[in-house]
Amino acid sequence: MAEHRGGCHCGNLRLRLRLSQAPEDTRLRACFCSFCRAHATRTTSDPLGSVEIGATDWALVEAYRFGTGTAEFLICRRCGVYIGAVCETVSGTRAVTNINCLDDRAAFLRQPAATDHDGETTDDRLARRAANWTPASLDRQAVSLPAPATPRG
Ligand SMILES: [Zn+2]
Repeated sequence: MAEHRGGCHCGNLRLRLRLSQAPEDTRLRACFCSFCRAHATRTTSDPLGSVEIGATDWALVEAYRFGTGTAEFLICRRCGVYIGAVCETVSGTRAVTNINCLDDRAAFLRQPAATDHDGETTDDRLARRAANWTPASLDRQAVSLPAPATPRG
């Protein structure tokens, strides 16, 4: 399974994403909620993959909630980058990742499919995330991934 590393711009938030398909075959979404439009996200999730999310300083991480409040949208307070959202589901912690925060973001070539979940009930939303989002592990306490050697341009 191919591994992709990424994180926020200043390096505080980091993630390691494993996807079951090659980047050029990975389906992307352009969610039409007002938050995702403001950030111009390209997102993906893979129920067969996995993602680990860590931060050097969780005090610098905003877990923003809006709408139904059932997911946390992780934003770095220092550099402002949105890396993805996490949600507690019946299948455990699941996440969607903003692939624009990956080091190899340019390898993801597919045209994002427009999605709009505005009409969904909260139960439907949680069931969809449990089935489709990526199994996730968060280390909210300590450093779980090595910091980048140099700040990324
Ligand atoms: Zn940052």
